[in-house]
Amino acid sequence: MKAWRFYGFGDLRLDDVPVPACPPGHVLVEPLCVQPSVTEAQLAYGIPTLAYDRVKRRLENEAPVQLFGHEFCARIIEVNSTTGRFKPGDRVAARAKLPCGDCPLCHTERSNLCRRGPVIGFDLPGCFSEIAVLPEIALVKVDDRISDSEAACLQSLSDSIAAVETAQIQMADSVAIFGQGSMGLECLQVARLSGAGMIITVDVRDEACRVSRELGADHALNANECDTVATIRELTEGNGVDVVFECAGGSPKQGLAGHRTLMQAIDAVRSGGKIVGVSWFGGAVELPIDLLRERSLRYLFPDISTQGHLAHTVRLVASGWIRLQPTITHVLSGIDAVPRAFEITANKGKHGAINPAQVMMRG
Ligand SMILES: [Zn+2]
Repeated sequence: MKAWRFYGFGDLRLDDVPVPACPPGHVLVEPLCVQPSVTEAQLAYGIPTLAYDRVKRRLENEAPVQLFGHEFCARIIEVNSTTGRFKPGDRVAARAKLPCGDCPLCHTERSNLCRRGPVIGFDLPGCFSEIAVLPEIALVKVDDRISDSEAACLQSLSDSIAAVETAQIQMADSVAIFGQGSMGLECLQVARLSGAGMIITVDVRDEACRVSRELGADHALNANECDTVATIRELTEGNGVDVVFECAGGSPKQGLAGHRTLMQAIDAVRSGGKIVGVSWFGGAVELPIDLLRERSLRYLFPDISTQGHLAHTVRLVASGWIRLQPTITHVLSGIDAVPRAFEITANKGKHGAINPAQVMMRG
């Protein structure tokens, strides 16, 4: 079978490799639609972000190696399990981070906090191949009402659900969301379903602002056209919002906002309010800690998304409560298109992409 393997940062080749075995507790799948996550796309080019050191080490010690591909929709072709949860022909999506099953946290029903388990695409091969082997505990069955394209977004949506849950939104809380990429647009919709009152979103792209309004933002501000912090304060009678989701930060080379939106989040939230950090910055960030202390701000980070979150994404998308289709801007065809999807996803601003670029693997 064919599989994309990394020989180093920026060196991706389509190789012939043996079909993987299917050990107990696993399934073999045929990937239908796969998208690189933004993190994966940056790592593919050696840009420092989450898990950079781990990927660098694997490339140095194990290359060529199958990396990435945890955001996918796939069809099961073989099952080696006695649970009866899945059968050949089922379409599935996955969560990426798995519990180890054998640490004090996992033994006491807190496996959502376990950091010892493998991550699909980083420690285990993902789905940038004609056939992939996956652990059954990672998977959820995709409802027939969800397209292959939408299903490839469910992993990201499950992380957005975990992020919004972290904020513990109270009924009618005002919310600001910096960044209207795929996770920002997901947080918008999940926050609405979680009881948010006024929702103000911020981006620098007109198209992202338009999609944000379409998906329910009360005010979608273009940061190039207004003073976002002043506008958020005006809209909240000078208070600032109850909750901010910071989904815009990251390397300006990739069209992201650097640290600027985090500083704006601190100025836009009310005293005692919460900032939920969704972005990855790829390096150290200097923060005005005394100001956070003086204003009793809570700077929170999401827990790992669980199997429960992933199952909830299927309900929300199948029922139409969450809409993913308007965020999907680039769909490529055939396994040969995978490097192009990495390039578009690593430079979404330049390409006008909102969701990562998807590849329909079977053409
Ligand atoms: Zn564990």
